[in-house]
Amino acid sequence: MDKRPAFALVAHDAKKDSLVSFVRQHEKKLLPFRLIATGTTGARLKAACPDLDIHPVKSGPLGGDQQIGAMIAEGRLSALIFFADPLTPMPHDVDVKALTRLAIVYDIPMALNQATADAIISTIAKTENLESTASK
Ligand code: PGA
Repeated sequence: MDKRPAFALVAHDAKKDSLVSFVRQHEKKLLPFRLIATGTTGARLKAACPDLDIHPVKSGPLGGDQQIGAMIAEGRLSALIFFADPLTPMPHDVDVKALTRLAIVYDIPMALNQATADAIISTIAKTENLESTASK
């Protein structure tokens, strides 16, 4: 089984462009990680950053958010970055709440906006560098 830390990346439709720019900006730091993304988000990210190791699950409204929730519960995710749209009502609004609850239960970093995502990526990339330097 792949032991690399995995990040999940999700964006609501109105935030997909912002997530793509964010991932492009942090592409180097994200290269060592296995990235899980909901269907449409994953397709956008793969097209923009083909060198990244992106594994799409189902589209969010069709159960992809809940697949990511299951991965949190199984201890398979180190962090969740979810660019959420606060202005549009959506049938799967409840998925954000469910993921937030699981991130609290399993105490993993979760970002719902870019400022927090920046902080998570910087911290985790630093930790990763320290660990790979220490194991040399
Ligand atoms: P999507 O799902 O990446 O398949 O659009 C994201 C969501 O809305 O939860």
